[in-house]
Amino acid sequence: MAIATVDPATGKTVRTFQPHTDAQIDEKLARALAGARLQRELPVTERAKRMGRAAEVLKARREELGRLMTLEMGKLKNAALAEVDKCALGCRYYSENGPAFVADEEVKTDAVRSLIRYQPLGVVLAVMPWNFPLWQVFRFSAPGLVAGNAAVLKHASNVPQCALAIEDIFREAGFPDGAFQTLLIEGSRASKLLDDPRIAAATLTGSEGAGRSIGEAAGRNIKKVVLELGGSDPFIVMPSADLEKAVKVGVEARVQNAGQSCIAAKRFILHERIYDEYVQRMAKRFSELRVGDPNDESTEVGPLYAEQGLDAVEDQVKRMIAKGSKVLAGGKRLDRPGFFFQPTLLTDAGPGTPGRDEEIFGPVATLFKVRDAGEALQIANGTKFGLGSAAWTRDAGEVRRFTDELQAGQVFINGMVKSDPRLPFGGIKASGHGRELSVIGMREFVNWKTVWIGEGAEQRFAGTE
Ligand code: NAP
Repeated sequence: MAIATVDPATGKTVRTFQPHTDAQIDEKLARALAGARLQRELPVTERAKRMGRAAEVLKARREELGRLMTLEMGKLKNAALAEVDKCALGCRYYSENGPAFVADEEVKTDAVRSLIRYQPLGVVLAVMPWNFPLWQVFRFSAPGLVAGNAAVLKHASNVPQCALAIEDIFREAGFPDGAFQTLLIEGSRASKLLDDPRIAAATLTGSEGAGRSIGEAAGRNIKKVVLELGGSDPFIVMPSADLEKAVKVGVEARVQNAGQSCIAAKRFILHERIYDEYVQRMAKRFSELRVGDPNDESTEVGPLYAEQGLDAVEDQVKRMIAKGSKVLAGGKRLDRPGFFFQPTLLTDAGPGTPGRDEEIFGPVATLFKVRDAGEALQIANGTKFGLGSAAWTRDAGEVRRFTDELQAGQVFINGMVKSDPRLPFGGIKASGHGRELSVIGMREFVNWKTVWIGEGAEQRFAGTE
């Protein structure tokens, strides 16, 4: 994919960028290594203070950053502003809590004194997707920079202006030279960076293919890697659920960000007692959704991020129909400039169909009718993915069963799956490994160093306290 800003609402190329040459990358990695040293020399409280400043910069540049996201990947105006606010919240969270998350931890053993010390790894390569162009980057870099690492960002090729703006934000917040840099390179050149000894670790949020490529390179080089990959989240509705709420949240959970969210509800698994009513209400809502200009505040579903996204969704829907799915709403791309697809409801997603076996990254929901909780779990877990999951029920036994048995990184009962800086976020199975956010996410990119002090040295030993 060329590195360029293409407005998904019109299909027009707005700006193109020259990829960085190998010599430019080499210079940036040298600066990153120096940046990692400068970062490490700063006290954690100072790094935290600068992260607090990053929140202020985000607040001051809110409108401009929101406009950039809408321009580059078609995010609805208000959702883009909310994303900037969420990034500021993430920065504040790690500014306030980060130092405690990586403070020395005393452990009682046979030593005079023993403790766990959390030290930064160095330069972390962050390969990121376009769907939440700011939040995906901040949820890694806010904890990562406060922990004392430096970062080089290889952002998705269609959001170069967002990528460069993020570099600016951390510079404006006062982080040392080289602590955070953007590399403008194609995806095909990203994995090779892990062969460079100046890169200590990597984090990737993206597709399975990219995950495999980065994961292989990390394995070959014995480097730490976190992978946040795709999902095909189940959304289970049982007879005791508050149906009105489950429909309202279900629709939002499927069409938010034009359906391009890893944790969007994708497979609706409905108990046979409420199936007809749920589907009827959902189909009505889907056909009423206003699709159009992401800058118009009355729009509910914007364009897909790029022509290739639109083509992929159209192909998946066609394959579903060819294998016997019925279309209850939508089903087609819009006949207008830009990359728009109708909110679409499909039934009968049999084995081997995209609605069951693939991730559909667009406003397309597939429906399943089940007899009981056991069958719901069988379909929910019958996928290679394991990212998020939601179940709607007021039955205590079912709550217990779903929270125990859903195979996913997160289970939400009577709510929409979302990320929150206070809670770990990530997946199992083909959805990846490792976690972002919370104390756990922050400790992914540190060396958990065991320190054991015997007799004789304890007087001279000074910890970080
Ligand atoms: P993608 O094609 O994998 O792109 C993600 C990033 O990886 C981009 O920066 C891309 O660069 C780069 N990339 C592409 N091919 C690569 C390769 N062979 N080696 C190394 N890097 C490579 O994913 P996408 O289609 O843009 O994003 C959507 C996917 O991300 C979905 O599957 C979604 O579920 C997943 N996602 C997961 C999470 C999570 O937290 N689990 C969150 C959001 C999205 P280029 O743009 O230059 O190709």
